[in-house]
This record gives sequence, C-alpha cells and structure tokens, in this order.
Amino acid sequence: MTLASGLTDGEAGLQWLTVLGSTGSIGGSTLDVVRRHPQRFRVYALTAARNVAVMREQIIEFSPHIAVMTDAGAAQELRDALPPGIPTQVLSGTEALSMVASAPQVDQVMAAIVGAAGLLPTLAAARSGKRVLLANKESLVMAGPLFLQAVREGGATLLPIDSEHNAIFQSMPENYRGNFAEHGIRRILLTASGGPFRGRTSEQLDDVTPAQAVAHPNWSMGQKISVDSATLMNKGLELIEACFLFGCGVDDVQVVVHPQSVIHSMVQYCDGSVLAQLGQPDMRTPIAHAMAWPERIDAGVASLDLFDLARFDFEAPDETAFPCLTLARDAFRAGGTMPAVLNAANEVAVECFLREQIPFTTIPTLISQVMGHHQVEAATSLDVVLRADQWARTQASALAAGVTA
Ligand code: NAD
Ligand code: MG
Repeated sequence: MTLASGLTDGEAGLQWLTVLGSTGSIGGSTLDVVRRHPQRFRVYALTAARNVAVMREQIIEFSPHIAVMTDAGAAQELRDALPPGIPTQVLSGTEALSMVASAPQVDQVMAAIVGAAGLLPTLAAARSGKRVLLANKESLVMAGPLFLQAVREGGATLLPIDSEHNAIFQSMPENYRGNFAEHGIRRILLTASGGPFRGRTSEQLDDVTPAQAVAHPNWSMGQKISVDSATLMNKGLELIEACFLFGCGVDDVQVVVHPQSVIHSMVQYCDGSVLAQLGQPDMRTPIAHAMAWPERIDAGVASLDLFDLARFDFEAPDETAFPCLTLARDAFRAGGTMPAVLNAANEVAVECFLREQIPFTTIPTLISQVMGHHQVEAATSLDVVLRADQWARTQASALAAGVTA
C-alpha cells in the first residue's frame, strides 16, 4: 500500500472532491457522506455516463463547478434540463473525465466508474498526486504495477474503498510498507458473502436469470458488480486487488465465505492474533473512513448490535460451482497482460448474460477460453494493457455470438 507520509496543510481544511461515477451506487453513498459534512467536503466535479435525471438533482444539491456526461447527447440533454442560473459547466467526452480528476483545485477523487472505463481518469488522479479513493477495482486489476507506479511517482495517497480492502487496511499495522514478514503478518483472510447462489451446484446454476443474479442478499450495488458477486468473480478481482495493494501473492490470501457480511476481512499475524474490521454492510463506512482518514467522522451508519446478529458463519468457497475465483488466481499468477484479459472477458460476458445472450454458467467458460488463447505479454506500458483489453473484448464477443442462451 502506498500511503503519503504525512498530511499536507490543505488536508486540515476544506476538501474539494471529484466524484467519478456520481450517479451510481458508490457515487450516491459518497455524496451522502458529503451531505453530512458540508464544512469538510465540497464537490468540484461530478461525472456520469448518461443518467441525466439523477445528475440534474445532484447538480442542484451540490453545485459542482463542473459536470461531465461522457455521452455527448446526454450532456446536451442535461444543459437543457438544468434550471436557469445554475453556474455548473457541463462537459462531455472521456477526456473531460481525466481533466476533472487531475484539476489543481481537487484534493480527493472518488474513483467509482464501473469497469475498464475508469482506468484513465483514475490514473490521471494518481499521477497528479490526489487522495485517490479507489472503488473501481477493475482499473487496478487491469494495470496494477503501472497504477501503483503512477501513485508513487505522482505522490498520491491511495485508500481502498472496497469494503474488504478497507477492512484489511484498517487491520494492518499503521506503518505497513508492503512486506508481510517484516510486520509478522501470516496471511490476509478475505471474506466473501457467497452471493445469491451460495450452496448451489453447477447444475442448479444453469438456468438462473439476470434478475436473480443481481438480487444480492446483503449489499445493494450496481448491476455489474452484483453479477460478479453471484459468479464469485468479484472475489477473484478482489483477490488480485489485495495482492497489488498489499504487495503479496495469491497464496498469502485465503478467501473465507462469511454469509452475514459483518466481518469485512481480517489479517492473521504470526503470534496467533487475527485482527478484523466489523460493521454493517453499508459502503458509507469505508467511504467515510477513506475520505476523513486518519480521522473518523459520522457516516450515517447505524451501530452494530452483536446481540441482534447472534452468530457468524464461515465456510470454504465452492470453486467447482464458481470457477471464476480459480480463473482470477490463474490470471494473477500468469501476470503481465493476463489480469487485463480476465477483466475484459468478464465485462463482455457479464453484459451478454444481462442481455440474456448467454447462460450464467457460460460466463466462466467464456473467460477461460479467452484466457486460454492469450499470449501473455509483460505489461510494460498502458498501450500494451489497452491492446490486450481490446483483444480480449473482441475474442469474448465472438465466442458469445456463437452461444445461444
Ligand atoms: P454503478 O453501476 O451503480 O455506477 C457506475 C457509475 O459509473 C455511474 O455513475 C455510471 O454513469 C458511470 N459509468 C458507467 N459506465 C461508464 C463509462 N463507460 N464511462 C464513464 N462513466 C461510466 O456501479 P457501482 O456499484 O457504484 O460500482 C462502481 C465501482 O465501485 C465498480 O468498479 C465496483 O466494482 C466498485 N465497488 C462497488 C461497490 C458497491 O457496493 N456498489 C462496492 C465495492 C466496490
Ligand atoms: Mg468488496
């Protein structure tokens, strides 16, 4: 984990924020934390793909300097929909995302765009030395070493928003610098809810529908991550995310299914201690933690009542019924461009499943086939990574076109 050594003068005062993906689930939770702390946080820019109605409301409430809609038609629709006298400048296109992520006025960037589309603006925030609040795990999975290099060279502070990684960060020694042995760490215990289909066999997964897959038992999230949770690819991506963030290998991370989603992850030490972070399954906790770190602020989250919970359960993941976790481990071990290929093939497969073009159980098959055809290259530049991403998308789309749901 690359953390800045100390707080700068600016961090003691008002913090200006860009929220990439503000109309989504994480974006909305972030703005709720901002809403609770108007003396502490102000919004510099909000961005979305094309949700004009939600963006309009957010602009009226938070008065950002800039709003970006990546879709040009949606940007024009938004300009027409805003009441007269609103000073917010509405921009469009993907370049504007990187501009608002790196603007000199900005202190913190919430990276909450879903998928590979988040990579370039999140990198721009890292390169320009922002406090990067990383929800967009896909960007780290695609380009881990390049991303961490940008954080180091830009002097950025990287704080994990993913609840598991935020929990691991909170359970790590304060001065952790990426070496388990030096700190007496034995392994990371990465918890997983198991998703809506926990306990089913492969045969019982054949005919599950998109509506069933996005109905997560504990968390309310965007569609793509909900499907990833159902296939366990979300845990696979998180395994890779943990290895990059905490400088360890896949064998240093054990996935533990914990259906209550109250323990958000743990760190096991060589003296037998296990440190954990617990809380309600509400993303405002990790978001508020990262936004105010190293202070603590009210996140609007109810206190945990252990008597209400009564019990915690744990079980091993079923990697026969849910092979995506194995595929992610294989991709990290292969290294280079393979994690980007895994991610891109998964994005295409999930989209095809949501459009009912392929069955649920074809998601891992398709990813595995694309990975099987890939010649791994060293991920020496962003161009190499983006080329591998494109290649995998083309392969996955072609394979999906040959499958009938
Ligand atoms: P979401 O689908 O609810 O929101 C996605 C946001 O990104 C929206 O504002 C959308 O307009 C924008 N967007 C989508 N495609 C875009 C594109 N091509 N270009 C620019 N903007 C685009 O997703 P979410 O659940 O909020 O997840 C966001 C990210 O956070 C994902 O990477 C996810 O893995 C991660 N994450 C989410 C949760 C959660 O609880 N929702 C938890 C941990 C991590
Ligand atoms: Mg998570």
